[in-house]
Amino acid sequence: MTGEPLRLMAVHAHPDDEASKGAATTAKYAAEGVEVLVVTCTGGERGDVLNPSFVPPEGLSFDTIEDKRAVRRLEMAAAAAALGVRQQWLGFVDSGLPEGDPLPPLPEGCFALVPLEEAAAPLVELVRQFRPHVMTTYDPTGGYPHPDHIRCHEVAFEAYHAAGDAGRYAVDGGAEPWAPRKLYYNHGFSMERIRAAHEAMTGAGLESPFGDWIESRTAREIPEREVTTRIDVSDHFAQRDAALVAHASQIDPDGFFFAVPRDLEVDVWPTEEFELADSRVPVETPEDDLFAGVREES
Ligand SMILES: [Zn+2]
Repeated sequence: MTGEPLRLMAVHAHPDDEASKGAATTAKYAAEGVEVLVVTCTGGERGDVLNPSFVPPEGLSFDTIEDKRAVRRLEMAAAAAALGVRQQWLGFVDSGLPEGDPLPPLPEGCFALVPLEEAAAPLVELVRQFRPHVMTTYDPTGGYPHPDHIRCHEVAFEAYHAAGDAGRYAVDGGAEPWAPRKLYYNHGFSMERIRAAHEAMTGAGLESPFGDWIESRTAREIPEREVTTRIDVSDHFAQRDAALVAHASQIDPDGFFFAVPRDLEVDVWPTEEFELADSRVPVETPEDDLFAGVREES
C-alpha cells in the first residue's frame, strides 16, 4: 500500500454524456475520496436544443458554433460541480450526428475525421499526467451510433494501451509513461434495465414511456453487452439528476430521463453497470467495485 489516492478517468464524447452514462458512479467515487476526472473529447458544438423550455444564458444564443461552445462550457461546469468531479476538455470539435439518406459527409476538421494518432495524443498525455488507475469509456460500437462516440472509444482504447509505453506518443517535456490498471465500458441503456423500469412502472399503475422503445429495440435485435461489474449508486442518483439538469440546452427536466420516479428506480435498479474490457491486475468477475484488484496493490 502506497497510500496514494485512487484515480478514475471517465472519457466521454460530448458535454452531457458524463451525466447520462455512469454519472452516479463518478459521484460515488468522488464522495469516497477517489480523484475523479471527466474528460470531454469535443465541445458539443453541433448539438441542437433538445429542451423546449431552454433559455440561453444572458448575452448568448444557441445559433453559432461559438455560442454553443460557450453555453455548453457553462453547463458542463455546473454538471461537474453537481457530481463533485473535475473536468477537462480535449479540445476537438463535435462531428454532429449525420442524418439523411444518403448520409451527408462529416464536417471538415471534426473529431471523427482527425487521424487516430492525432486524436489520441492529447488523451495519452493527459493519462500520463493524471495517472488514473481506472479508465471508463464506451464500447466499440460507441453504445450509440454517433461518430464521436465511436471515436471516443477508439481514442480511449488507444490511450489506455499506449500511455504506459515510453516508445509511443513521446513528446518533449511530456509526462512519464503511466499504464492504467483497468479499462471499462459504460453500460448505459441496457435493455434489461429499461424492461425492469417499464414493468415496475406499469405494475405501479404509472404510464411508462419505454413500451415503444422496448419493442423497436427488440425488433432491431441489438445484442446486449456483457455486464461484469455492478456499482450500487442509489445514494448518488440525486447528483446524477442535478448533473443532467445542468445541461439545460440538452435535457428536458420533464422528459425521458426523469420518467422513472426516483424511489421506484432505487427499488428496482439501484446500480450502474460496466463491462470490464481489460485488466492489468488479477480480477474475478462479477465485481461490485471498479477498483477491485487495484486497491490491493496501491
Ligand atoms: Zn454524446
